[in-house]
Amino acid sequence: MADPAETTIKVVCRFRPLNRAEVARGDKYIPKFQGEDCVAIAGKPYYFDRVFQSNTTQEQFYNAVAQKIVRDVLEGYNGTIFAYGQTSSGKTHTMEGKLHDPDMMGITPRIVQDIFNYIYSMDENLEFHIKVSYFEVYLDKIKDLLDVTKTNLSVHEDKNRVPYVKGCTERFVCSPEEVMEAIDEGKNSRSVAVTNMNEHSSRSHSIFLINIKQENSQTEQKLTGKLYLVDLAGSEKVGKTGAEGTVLDEAKMINKSLSALGNVISALAEGSSYVPYRDSKMTRILQDSLGGNCRTTMVICCSPSSFNDAETRSTLLFGQRAKTIKNNVTLNVELTAEQWKKKWEKEKEKNKTLKNTITLLEAEINRWRSGESVPAEEQFDKEKATAEVQALDTALNNDKATPQPALSTLPGVIITEVGKEQYGAEMGKLYKELDDKDEEINQQSQLVETLKQQMLDQEELLSSSRRDHDTLQTELNRLLAENEASKEEVKEVLQALEELAVNYDQKSQEVEDKAREFEALSEELNQKSSSLASIDSELQKLKEMTLHQRKRVTEMMSSLLKDLAEIGIAVGSNDIKQQESSGLIDEEFTVARLYISKMKSEVKSLVKRSKQLESTRAESSQKMEQTEMELTACQLRISQYEAKIKSLTESLQNLEQKKRQLEENVDSLNEEIVRVKAQEKVSTMDKKDEIQSATEVKDAVEKQILSHREAHQRQISSLRDELDTKEKLITELQDLNQKVMLEQERLRVEHEKLKAADQEKSRQLQELTVQQDRQEQARQDLKGLEETVARELQTLHNLRRLFVQDLSTRVKKNAKIDSEDTDGSAAQKQKISFLENNLEQLTQVHKQLLRDNADLRSEIPKMERRLRATAERVKALEAALKEAKENAARDQKRYQQEMERIKDTVKPKNMGRRASAQIAKPIRPGQLPGAPLIPGFIRSSLIQNNIKEGGNESS
Ligand code: ADP
Ligand code: MG
Repeated sequence: MADPAETTIKVVCRFRPLNRAEVARGDKYIPKFQGEDCVAIAGKPYYFDRVFQSNTTQEQFYNAVAQKIVRDVLEGYNGTIFAYGQTSSGKTHTMEGKLHDPDMMGITPRIVQDIFNYIYSMDENLEFHIKVSYFEVYLDKIKDLLDVTKTNLSVHEDKNRVPYVKGCTERFVCSPEEVMEAIDEGKNSRSVAVTNMNEHSSRSHSIFLINIKQENSQTEQKLTGKLYLVDLAGSEKVGKTGAEGTVLDEAKMINKSLSALGNVISALAEGSSYVPYRDSKMTRILQDSLGGNCRTTMVICCSPSSFNDAETRSTLLFGQRAKTIKNNVTLNVELTAEQWKKKWEKEKEKNKTLKNTITLLEAEINRWRSGESVPAEEQFDKEKATAEVQALDTALNNDKATPQPALSTLPGVIITEVGKEQYGAEMGKLYKELDDKDEEINQQSQLVETLKQQMLDQEELLSSSRRDHDTLQTELNRLLAENEASKEEVKEVLQALEELAVNYDQKSQEVEDKAREFEALSEELNQKSSSLASIDSELQKLKEMTLHQRKRVTEMMSSLLKDLAEIGIAVGSNDIKQQESSGLIDEEFTVARLYISKMKSEVKSLVKRSKQLESTRAESSQKMEQTEMELTACQLRISQYEAKIKSLTESLQNLEQKKRQLEENVDSLNEEIVRVKAQEKVSTMDKKDEIQSATEVKDAVEKQILSHREAHQRQISSLRDELDTKEKLITELQDLNQKVMLEQERLRVEHEKLKAADQEKSRQLQELTVQQDRQEQARQDLKGLEETVARELQTLHNLRRLFVQDLSTRVKKNAKIDSEDTDGSAAQKQKISFLENNLEQLTQVHKQLLRDNADLRSEIPKMERRLRATAERVKALEAALKEAKENAARDQKRYQQEMERIKDTVKPKNMGRRASAQIAKPIRPGQLPGAPLIPGFIRSSLIQNNIKEGGNESS
């Protein structure tokens, strides 16, 4: 049971050293310390449980003030540590300090570490569940620092009428690191939300709650302990900071909660029956810590500077007042079934004694009523009976009291009368209602927040839609301008189209003219070719004639030659028979002369004839030249026309292309116009009301477009048809032209041939004349020739004789040589034939071998190919195998990585879930998740425990 000294609030005072600014300003150090528990300001002493001077280290302070609380909380008592004082008096320094600096860390981190160290050293049968909450009270609103979305939490009472912050985040932790993480997170979310952290922290209270539940697995005893670590807002008066406006309101609010704290403390100190816990949320949360079931320590933080003299004194007074508050501390224990059973038995016993008393009393009353007088010794002994009942009661209470009703724990509230009971019940009901209202307010404020957010969203939406509207307007203007421009363009295009059409008409007219001209030309060409044909026939006739003439000339020549030969013979015979008849010679001579004259006349006629022929030839050649000239002229004209046609077709094509382009342009522009018109219409109409009519208009316009387009297309198609027919005509004309050209070519070739033939003929004619001349000469030479012929004949005779003789001698010689050669050659021939045979056989064998070789060679590439294919297959299989192996390795690797990743993600998730899902992780003494601050002896024992437990687990 708690000893009486521990039921009052413990108040300690801590002075910080003068800071640099104060030293620089030359402020005086005003506190005078008298012993361990007294400090005097300007001669007035203030007594506390303990006073700490400025040079106290964090560790010293912790050991003296807070260490004991760890044990209390772990033994099932509630605990609270407040830090009270003006801003920058060292509250945060005392409560938190530098969180991760082993020397400068304040109470909170040291408590956290000690709690775990203590747990690790406790009985193995105990199982701990630790959860932490962290919130801030600002302008009487409770903000959850572990979940920034909870901005206005409400305070409710549990079934034992102990207030708690409803809905705040409770994070289960199982190591000091996790607690520190939660603190860091809370501090972080606190500083993120505000611009000036110093100012904010001086105006808000921060409350860190550690809730420890333990269960003995053997006795099933359950204990709970709550520890509040409170860093209060600055206690200074508003005037000093010179706050204005909202800041002033804020300061009033803060002062309100602080003055509520003061009022509560005063009421408790005076033992008043009414304590105004409900004046502020802060006092409400700390209701149990102030005059309730809690071991409370208040740290009064003071500035030693003379500048803060007044504040320091009021702070010290506040602390002194708080020192008188008495708390009624009980163990927070849940009875086990056995304990309940025992308690029930005792109650039964008590009931029995009381019943006994009643029967005794009734018997005595009856006796009195019946007029009997009961002697003193027989009368009911009230004292004895009460003593009996009290004995039973104390037995019950000693067994460990049940948690007493909250009302009875309130000092000054003593339930003795029925009226007070009723009043208490009424109060409870009203408080309940108040709580509900609180909850409602909380919900409403949350709703307000969401509505605000929604409003902001709506405003944003509105502005964005306004912006959209503006952009649409500009777009519309742009479209209108574009529409105008495109209209203009369409007009231009239409004009261009008209011009083009006119141009087209002109061109087609031209084409027609040209075609007509071409026809005339081709007619002319026909005429020319017919005249050429007639000339040709004439030429043929002339040829025939020349042929005839030539025949005749040759005939004549041959007859002349015959005559000449006869003459020669006659002359020869004349030589031989000279002596026979000289008269005959004369005769012959006359005949020859006759012949010669005849020949002369004939030659003359021939010459005349040839002259005639020549003149006709000249004529015909002249004619030919003329026709040739005409032909070239015709050709020239034809080529000119061709060129013209070509250029015309090209220009036609160009025109066609241009036309198409323009048509397309017109189409697109028309579409654009219509679209723009529709848009214009749509935009001009009111968006919501006349969308339907706009669509109708749009439809109508579209219909119009469609009809317009159809007409246009029809026109285009007819124009295209016309164009096609024209093109066909042009191609026909071209074909005709081609034909005519071919004909012309043919004619020219023929003409060339004829010319060549003519030349040949003239050449022959010249040859003939030359021959004739030669004949003349020959006739003159004939006489001399006759003589030489005779002479030559004689010499020939002689030569013949000589030749015959030579020949006969040579024949004889040859016969002799032949007979000598025939003997050796027979054997040689045989040998040769044998060798030839052999050679033939060998060549056959060789050929066979060659063939075989060739066959084998042809086999080789096939085999090689097969070999290569198999090698490739093997290679491919090897590669596939390798790839498969690699894939498998990669898959395995990936799988492992995936597994690791999943493990990694699962770990923090579990950590995170711990925060929200509130899965309790039991902590057992002997399990140490890396506790670095466990003293050596504890650690060694823990390790031993670990070994023991590990063995159990593994088995
Ligand atoms: P508060 O939280 O009351 O506004 P702080 O704890 O923030 O004040 O302290 C103000 C300044 O004084 C801090 O810089 C702190 O380090 C310093 N300080 C406070 N108390 C001590 C002390 N006991 N020893 C050394 N410095 C201190
Ligand atoms: Mg502070």
